[in-house]
Amino acid sequence: MNTNDAPVAAATQIGGHVSGPTLSIAAPARVRPTAAASSMAHGNLREGAFWQTLPAWRDVDEATFLDFRWQGRNSITRIDKLLEAIQGIAPAEFIADAEAGFANSPMSVRVSPYLMSLIDWTRPYEDPLRRQFIPLASRLLPDHPELTLDSLHEQDDSPVPGLTHRYPDKALFLALDTCPVYCRFCTRSYAVGLDTGMVDKVHLNADAARWERIFAYIASRPELEDIVLSGGDVYNLPAKHIRLIGERLLDLPNVKRLRYATKGPAVMPQKLLTDTEWTQALVDVVEFGRARRKDVVLHTHFNHANEITWITREAIGKLLEKGVFVRNQSVLQRGVNDTTESMKLLVKRLGHIGVHPYYVYVHDLVKGVEDLRTTLQTAIDIEKEVRGSTAGFNTPTFVVDTLGGGGKRDAHSFEYYDRHNGIALFRSPNVDPERLFYFFDPVETLAPEVQARWADPVERQRMKDEAATNARARLPTR
Ligand SMILES: *Cc1c(COP(=O)(O)O)cnc(C)c1O
Ligand code: SF4
Repeated sequence: MNTNDAPVAAATQIGGHVSGPTLSIAAPARVRPTAAASSMAHGNLREGAFWQTLPAWRDVDEATFLDFRWQGRNSITRIDKLLEAIQGIAPAEFIADAEAGFANSPMSVRVSPYLMSLIDWTRPYEDPLRRQFIPLASRLLPDHPELTLDSLHEQDDSPVPGLTHRYPDKALFLALDTCPVYCRFCTRSYAVGLDTGMVDKVHLNADAARWERIFAYIASRPELEDIVLSGGDVYNLPAKHIRLIGERLLDLPNVKRLRYATKGPAVMPQKLLTDTEWTQALVDVVEFGRARRKDVVLHTHFNHANEITWITREAIGKLLEKGVFVRNQSVLQRGVNDTTESMKLLVKRLGHIGVHPYYVYVHDLVKGVEDLRTTLQTAIDIEKEVRGSTAGFNTPTFVVDTLGGGGKRDAHSFEYYDRHNGIALFRSPNVDPERLFYFFDPVETLAPEVQARWADPVERQRMKDEAATNARARLPTR
């Protein structure tokens, strides 16, 4: 029995000073100090004609820069054009490095003027946007030995070309294979973009006959309630196809939820402002869904706070006005957003413009971008700092897409994680209750003697088997 109970209540009066032996256990009243101006940086978006700092666009006025056609026409698709645009501002060493980097890249090149103008070309090695779009030969690391071009087995789980049905009630519909820009870290580099010197791709054209097979499959599966429409990127679908696919899917009685996935708002927000036909088609599908009590939202993909400017605020604002809900999925990338400060800034800035942070993906094993990957531990550490910094509904879940088709798992939910060897194992009961699925940290982050073991196929198998045995030993017995 605690004899101190009664005086504690008295001591909790604001500023109360109570004498007696119980004082030491009473918490002082705590009022949060007013936030420092520096903690409000998420609200400071770039304003004005920021693109005019690039010599190539010094004379481009606002109406031109906001024109989505101009953005499309002036997007850079050839390395020589890209280098031309930054000649004289970027260090010469960097230009040679990028030229060699592109020669070895599995992804096509496509960078919008909007992105070009947000990169600090005087410090291109450190710039978080440059890192996502421009490969450098000097930073290239060997791929992880367990990498295959379709590490996530999206194609194995495809009953019809371009539809991945892995989870019980939801499926991923890849409507096309082009994008408004091409990202180095693309998980779907097996399909997205043009064939490069390095990779011949699987082609998923925007093709009505292929879509018909997908509609028929979805109609034949009453359990499918949730469709993610992606690609490639739905920004590149003409307005009439946004409408056609949306209405056809929402007309199916089983389909209750539809998401349009596009990186567009992060890389070319101008389209939402000036391609009124496209934006209206999306709004119309949202209303078509609402009339049927079905949920239609936009999923987008911002990775760094620098991608969000006054143009983004206006573009997202247009969607908010029309009642279009927008969620964000980021990819955690080394040197881009793998610090607590940069991730918190991104999350808060997204909330500030009305976008809900939904997921942060631990970077998958993807060809040619080992330099961008982080360890699983990095995700776990950052999540701890982000949670509690803002509204819970604006706090992203940190997930890992496990190898071999295990699907997405909460980063914390591993059964076993050998940090020394960089091997994690997860269960995924809704995909396969019996199997364990791997995830691997970048070899380059491990101790030199462990790196040597990874280089040896026999040792590699031994480490994997040992981790699996340890994971199984920890599973509850059934
Ligand atoms: C990510 C994904 C989905 C959607 O998953 P959510 O966790 O609901 O966002 C659906 N199908 C596949 C194959 C996916 O990879
Ligand atoms: S926009 Fe999306 S699908 Fe297209 S290259 Fe980037 S990550 Fe890949």
